Amino acid sequence: MEHGPPQMGLPGIGGKAGGFDSFVGNAQAVAVLRNFLVTRNVPHALLFAGPDGVGKKTLAIMFAKALNCDQLRDNFCGACARCRRAQEMLDAARQDHEARRSLKDPAKRTEGLTYFDLELVEPLTRHILIEQIRELRNVAYTFPFELRRRVLIIDQAQAVHWQAIDLLLKVLEEPPETTTLILICPNRGELRVTIRSRCHAIRFSPVDESVILRVLAEDSTVARAQQPLVARLAAGSVGRAKGFHLEEFQRKRRPWLDFFSSLLDQPAASPNWKLLFDATRSLTENRAEFQEALTIGYTLASDMLRLTEGSPDSEVINVDMVAHLKRWAPRLQLKGIEALTRGLDEVYRFYSRNVNLQLSLDALAVELQSIVGQVMRNSARLPQDFAAKDR
Ligand SMILES: [Zn+2]
Repeated sequence: MEHGPPQMGLPGIGGKAGGFDSFVGNAQAVAVLRNFLVTRNVPHALLFAGPDGVGKKTLAIMFAKALNCDQLRDNFCGACARCRRAQEMLDAARQDHEARRSLKDPAKRTEGLTYFDLELVEPLTRHILIEQIRELRNVAYTFPFELRRRVLIIDQAQAVHWQAIDLLLKVLEEPPETTTLILICPNRGELRVTIRSRCHAIRFSPVDESVILRVLAEDSTVARAQQPLVARLAAGSVGRAKGFHLEEFQRKRRPWLDFFSSLLDQPAASPNWKLLFDATRSLTENRAEFQEALTIGYTLASDMLRLTEGSPDSEVINVDMVAHLKRWAPRLQLKGIEALTRGLDEVYRFYSRNVNLQLSLDALAVELQSIVGQVMRNSARLPQDFAAKDR
């Protein structure tokens, strides 16, 4: 299934390859969809389930175009009248969503809702509202106006409001002849059994890091030396890798590096308190960014844990910091790393209340410093770092 029929004049979507060939990762999902197209045996309803950022929506849109393309049977050309019209409909739907979401009054967001032949149905509030599913049902049983086949894509199907579930279920129970429904959600377990049992499930997995590295090498502004870090932080998502703001990440990680360095790169008895308090201040001064800052702190803690447990360097998330982490982890030892993780959990709990976050991070630092002191005293007595463990 590497190549479909001759693909003449395919525009370069995201590189040299066009059509489905430009989709990165989840080859199995692509193959299943193309097989539906070849055999002209397309289920009435599909469910795309899998982690965020792996391209479920992108592939749903590609499939919708392929169902309508005038030129190709198991692919889409992107250039024929129908492919172009499909794209225009998507662009218009996106603009419409943005405009509706910007309305202050949620009740007004569904006013005058009308769906194109190809439509993305997405949450307009925290939910996909009953009016949205009502409109979906209205159009699902009619013939498309401009396309050959109507395709209605429900993104974040887990967010369909409970009041609208039965209505959606009715559509799935009496599948319309003229319409293909594609439901998208991260985890099919979040959908009711009655809903998901009526859809043909297509599973998506995180994309292999080697594939993400290849994408970055071909198509990114990230410097080669930093590509392994970005690929690791993207955690299986091509979308995240491509849109990753490395400098932003490094800016937010910097105070954590100072935090650890102030405790762990100094003689045990005299941490660099100035550096430490500056670090905890910059970690906490922007409350809106604090959750992200904590997440970065957790990645550093789990990296030190991995190294302490003897995992290979290749499993470290902050791959560019391995040398530092290897210096710090033995000074904290398991006890210190556990205290660190516990401390981060506690600060996270404080975050949701109105507690002074810098003070709690400072308290954590003091606790860590005392552990480092013990570790240093022990290792001064014992010639080998890990001798105590073997007894
Ligand atoms: Zn086409």
